[in-house]
Amino acid sequence: MPGAPRHALSFDVEEFFQVANLKAAFPKESWDSVPSRVDLAMDKLLELLDRRGAKATMFFLGWLAVRRPDLVRRCHDAGHEIASHGWEHEFLWDLDGPSGFREHLRKTEEAIEAAGVPRPVGFRASTFTLTRETWWAFDVLVERGYLYDSSVHPVRHPTYGVPDFDPGISTVSTGNGSIVEFPVTTFPFAGKNLPIGGGGYFRLLPGALHRAALARVTRMGRPVALYLHPWEFDPDQPRIATSALKKFRHYVGLEKSLSRLDRLLETWTFGSMREVLEGEGALPS
Ligand SMILES: [Zn+2]
Repeated sequence: MPGAPRHALSFDVEEFFQVANLKAAFPKESWDSVPSRVDLAMDKLLELLDRRGAKATMFFLGWLAVRRPDLVRRCHDAGHEIASHGWEHEFLWDLDGPSGFREHLRKTEEAIEAAGVPRPVGFRASTFTLTRETWWAFDVLVERGYLYDSSVHPVRHPTYGVPDFDPGISTVSTGNGSIVEFPVTTFPFAGKNLPIGGGGYFRLLPGALHRAALARVTRMGRPVALYLHPWEFDPDQPRIATSALKKFRHYVGLEKSLSRLDRLLETWTFGSMREVLEGEGALPS
């Protein structure tokens, strides 16, 4: 009998116009008037995951879950884990401290439960904004019954990241109890942790090199945790005027991402974050 999947696949389920990079072009007030594109990618992704027998964690934005309970339900019925990506993609330091965060978690939990899906036990903050500055978020997550978090990025970055944080699975203690942290995959290179678990490296690096880097991580004894977004599988999305660097990061390799994921799923067995944590003995199964 095959054991629990060794590696975790996850998607931050949000619309293309909700990413932090495009904030200036799409203020929150405009979101309801921008045509939705999330299904274009989710249709392809759900078909691919089903065909390859892979499971994933879908970190849903509450804003989307409340508008699209059918999509939450569809992912759940296909066997994927439904987790929380917060309410409206706010950075944690822009919320009104623990009370604001608590409220945003509650609304997202309600939207997910209203879709007929169990209350989430996993959380990922918008844009890795759980840093030393917003460490209080762990207390709130434990208080609300979350079992794991995937918001700490052990990288050096101008706006987020905790570079000295354990890049593997670890436990964070709070005054309310403890919670498991499962960061997305990084790869140590030249004294830095490269964020190879994200869509940027996934789309940018040659496929063979990316897979070789992931294989190195597993040889270090760490399960891989990939994080991708539906918009990364939507090559026809409108191109938004932004800085050259942001443009490059956002639009590079969109045409090839689906076939790349297909190639990866051909040889690697992926499950949800929760399944992998259970398999590692980090969570009760
Ligand atoms: Zn996001």
